[in-house]
Amino acid sequence: MIYLFRTYEHTKNTRKYEKIMNDQKQCHFCTSNIRIINYKDPDALKKFLSPQAKILPRKHTNLCAKHQRNLATAIKRARFLALLPYIAN
Ligand SMILES: [Zn+2]
Repeated sequence: MIYLFRTYEHTKNTRKYEKIMNDQKQCHFCTSNIRIINYKDPDALKKFLSPQAKILPRKHTNLCAKHQRNLATAIKRARFLALLPYIAN
């Protein structure tokens, strides 16, 4: 009985947590109405890099799939132009 109650509470809480997380999940580029991410602006792209200069996953950036894909391309282009590092110092 206690076990059932606990699992019920667990699912209830996770649903609540997911709802809160979904409400907070808003794409930065969609909300600011940016269609194309500029690869020539490394300061804007730096926010989406980890301390090891890796591209952060969607879980952390809270971007939509389209903008996460465009961001990855923009970061890779900026890296090729040496505006962003491939690895951190
Ligand atoms: Zn978006």
